[in-house]
Order: sequence, then structure tokens, then C-alpha cells
Amino acid sequence: MKLYKFATVLCFIYASASYSAQQELTIDVLVNEGSVLETLVRLRGYDTGGTEGESGEDGISAKNEAKLSARAIEPLNLATPAVETNLFYREVNSSTTPQTLFANLLQSLIERRTSIPIKIFMPEASAEFIDPEIWRVFAASDVTKDIVDENFLNSQDAYAVWMEDPYYGKKQASAIYLIVYGTDDEAGRQVNLDYCNHIRETGFREILNCDDSDHLTYVQGGGSISSNGPLTGYYKLNMSTRGHGASRSMAFHELFHIYQLSNVFTAFDQYQLKNKMGKRSGDNLNVDVAWWMEGNADFFAALYSGDADNFRWAMQDALEGYGPFSQPRKAQYFEETEKLYNLSWNQGDTVDLAYRIGSWFVAYLVAEHGEEQIYQFWEAVDKEGFSETFIRSFGKDYKTYTEEFDAWLQQPNDELYLFLDPLFANRVR
Ligand SMILES: [Zn+2]
Repeated sequence: MKLYKFATVLCFIYASASYSAQQELTIDVLVNEGSVLETLVRLRGYDTGGTEGESGEDGISAKNEAKLSARAIEPLNLATPAVETNLFYREVNSSTTPQTLFANLLQSLIERRTSIPIKIFMPEASAEFIDPEIWRVFAASDVTKDIVDENFLNSQDAYAVWMEDPYYGKKQASAIYLIVYGTDDEAGRQVNLDYCNHIRETGFREILNCDDSDHLTYVQGGGSISSNGPLTGYYKLNMSTRGHGASRSMAFHELFHIYQLSNVFTAFDQYQLKNKMGKRSGDNLNVDVAWWMEGNADFFAALYSGDADNFRWAMQDALEGYGPFSQPRKAQYFEETEKLYNLSWNQGDTVDLAYRIGSWFVAYLVAEHGEEQIYQFWEAVDKEGFSETFIRSFGKDYKTYTEEFDAWLQQPNDELYLFLDPLFANRVR
């Protein structure tokens, strides 16, 4: 029965109401049944109550936030036109279930607008999340306890930046299996085996990264997420220690990937998941491209894994460092014939540019729209996918944005670096 115990850990409830040709009300409710304490209600729409002239385009620029108790749903301010309202619901009375909360919300809406037909769409989602623990640590026997602890602490710190309360994807950002590898092959093989045994014993349907040689990459160096949380129900977080012991920026980079992935509630196969993650945004839709996921992870790792000097250094290195090339990355990028969004892992070393120049693309977005807007993107991407959500969040399509970014990046580096200090000073997390 263990398999089914958490089968309804998290369900995605989506209600949509259309009541005139030009106006619509959309309610997204993400109910976390695993932790009734937290439910984020997202309400986006317009008022219909006689407000004139405000019902043109959907507006996501204005934002209201309100903290509600279960009974305080009634005063929900629907009279405000064109707003996006995030309602953080925190229930202290455990007798109130998410379902009653949602029913109350719908009822109060119906009472206000008796003519609105409300349709509820409630797909099954996240049945894979059968391990309720947020963290499990598997450490190779040749790694000291201090190094393991430091790796774990770095990961937890990164988690706290992007996935702590009241982040609604929290339940889905669980079952993170941190594997800390040393430099010894046999110890690496054994620790990977420990992880694989856990996966099998827990009863996950998909057993990933359990070939006899899968540990070798990480014994050599590097970090990665080698599972797809929304599809498999767990995140395999591989961290090498070779050469650095514990890399804080690597931990932040990988944890940002978990943040990205944990926002996907309704992907039923790899293709859907990759679409939502922006990995299929190149001109060739059959190829995984790196710029969006990796540019984000690199930028946010730089922004949060250290102090202002660290951030500046990392961003400077992304332009001036040579990486695998024979000239600075920026010069290499301008010689590259492929667009940023076409850079893929199939192109060998060139993919380095997707990470580093990609991080500058994200810096440019943050400078123009603010950091919060990037989080808004990720936390909305499940519903409409990468391309649509990009336009909705940043005002134009990503290919046009790339053209503008390329022009912007032509500035002398010293001009570009002027953007960095304000970004750090205005961090929102
Ligand atoms: Zn990455």
C-alpha cells in the first residue's frame, strides 16, 4: 500500500470561468494535500462588476498579495480590475482541508457572480511523489564527514533561498537525494548502489542513473541533476568533491534546477517537460538546448552563492574568461553563427556559451523586469509552457529578446558591469 499512500499528495485544481466574450476569470489553485498548512491560491482575471474600460488585455503588472484565513475568503477583492492576486493561505485549524478551502472560495465567487458557470478541471498529478522526505543524503565512504556536511549545508541554503515557505511547489521539491562522491571509484560505485537500493525499495516506477558505471562521471568531477522530478518523483542530486571538497556555487546551480523542475505539475512525458523547461526552444525542436535552464541556474548561483564581489567576479568571468576557448567568451560568442537559443550539448565545448552568456541574458532580463519577474515566469510556466509564458512575463518573444540582447551585449564590458551592483543590491531573496 505504500505506493498509494501519497498518491494524492498534490493535486492541481484549475477552475476557469468565462462569462462574457471579453472578460474571463481564471482561478488556479494549487492544493498541497501533503501539507495542508500551505496552499497558494492564484487568482488572475478581471472584474466584471461594471468596471468600464479595464477589460482589455490581461494585466500581470499589478499585483496584490493578501494573507487570508479560511473564513476570510469572502472579502477577496474582486473589484480590482486587471490584477494578479496571490493569496497565501495559511491554515492553523487542521480541520480545514484544502478541499473545503477551495469549495469556500468557489462558493464565494459564485455568490458574487451568480451567472458565472464555473468549470473545475482536476487532473491527476504527481502520483509519483511517494517519498515524503525532502532530503536524503548518500555519502561515499572516502569523503570526510565535514565535507559531506558542507555539501549538505550548501544545498540546504540554496533550497531556503528559492523553495522555502510559502513556495507552493514545496511538496514537489522533495525527495532530493544528495549523493556526495569522493575520488575513489569503488566508493563511488557503492554510494550509487545505496541510492539505487533506496529507489527500488521505495517503489519508484522509474529507476534512473543506476547503471554500473553511472558513478564514474561524478568521481571525476562535476554536479548534476540526473532525474526528472516531475516525472520520476525524485531528484538525484550528484555532487562531486574532487578538487574542491564542497562547491557552493555548484550546489546553488543544481538547486536552482530543482526549483525550475518543481514548478512543473502537469507534464506526462519527457517531451512535455522539456518544452516547459525551455529545452526545446531552438530552431530544431528535436534538440535539447541549454541557454534558458542553464543561463538561469548560472545567473542565480552567482547571485546567491556568495557576496557582491563573488557575484561580480562570476559575471565578469562569464564574459572575459576563456573557458574552453582560445579567446574570451564574449568574443567567441560574437563569432558563433548559432543563436544563443540554438546552442546545445551536441556542439561540444560551444555549449559553455549557453551557460555563461546565457547567464548574461538572464542578467539583462532582471535589469529590465526585476528579479521577481523571473520567479513569476517559473511559477507560471506549467500552465502555458515556455514560449507563451515568456511573452507574458517579459513582453515579447524570446527570439526577439535575443536579438535585443545581442545588441545590448555589444557595449564595452565596463558599461555592462555597471548593471551588476544594482542587481546584487536589489536581491529579493
Ligand atoms: Zn545545470
